[in-house]
Amino acid sequence: SVILSGITHRYGRLTAVDDVSLSVAPREVVCIVGPSGCGKSTLLRLISGLETVQAGTITVDGAPLATADRSLPPEKRPVGMMFQDFALFPHLTVAGNIAFGQTDRPRAERKRRVAELLETMALTRYADVYPHTLSGGQQQRVALARAMARDPKVLLLDEPFSALDEQLRRSVREEVVRIIRATGVATIVVTHDPEEAMEMGNRVVVMEAGRVIQADSPVNLYKRPANSFVARLFGEVN
Ligand code: ATP
Ligand code: MG
Repeated sequence: SVILSGITHRYGRLTAVDDVSLSVAPREVVCIVGPSGCGKSTLLRLISGLETVQAGTITVDGAPLATADRSLPPEKRPVGMMFQDFALFPHLTVAGNIAFGQTDRPRAERKRRVAELLETMALTRYADVYPHTLSGGQQQRVALARAMARDPKVLLLDEPFSALDEQLRRSVREEVVRIIRATGVATIVVTHDPEEAMEMGNRVVVMEAGRVIQADSPVNLYKRPANSFVARLFGEVN
């Protein structure tokens, strides 16, 4: 499992992530919700290694990824990340994009793994096309396949469904949850949609101004909100 213990990150004088502690077990989906600018993306970037922690520690299965004075580079971390805008490489084919996510392995094994991911994500027939020819939902599956290609222990999804329309969102969400359960990866999903958090998350973390206000099961957030902000956020979700 991934364990964050008292992690803090500042951009200049602004404390974007303020003493956050959280653990996520294999197969568990934790959703993070909170207003724009509360530090959700920064938190994911600290786990993936795109930002460094200034206090606290991050460990995965007991191995430290980051402390204030030691930090593994992103490519050495067992972490897969999917960005809000997918960030696919336009000059690489679908198969090329997925292969790019992999860490060093024998060539034959890499090819086999890419073929397997194409199959899982229903993308086999698009293996040799370029991302711009794909629909939003297809591009998203490529981005997810690329994140999964390194067989991560931790999967980070930043607003993964915001580019999709309502109907596609539901089916892709279900597919993502199925993949998470099948692979046993520990997953953190950032979403601005409380309803989505309630549906997807085994636990939901509410953040405000860099801090965790409440981390609880969906039912407890609804029944026992820690403050009026949480109550308002989840009060209307049914
Ligand atoms: P949103 O829901 O809009 O995506 P967020 O919760 O993901 O917001 P972050 O992107 O983590 O928020 O930003 C947290 C705070 O840090 C914000 O006040 C933001 O302006 C600031 N911030 C983010 N990235 C940087 C940066 N590279 N340099 C300086 N400040 C930054
Ligand atoms: Mg963000």
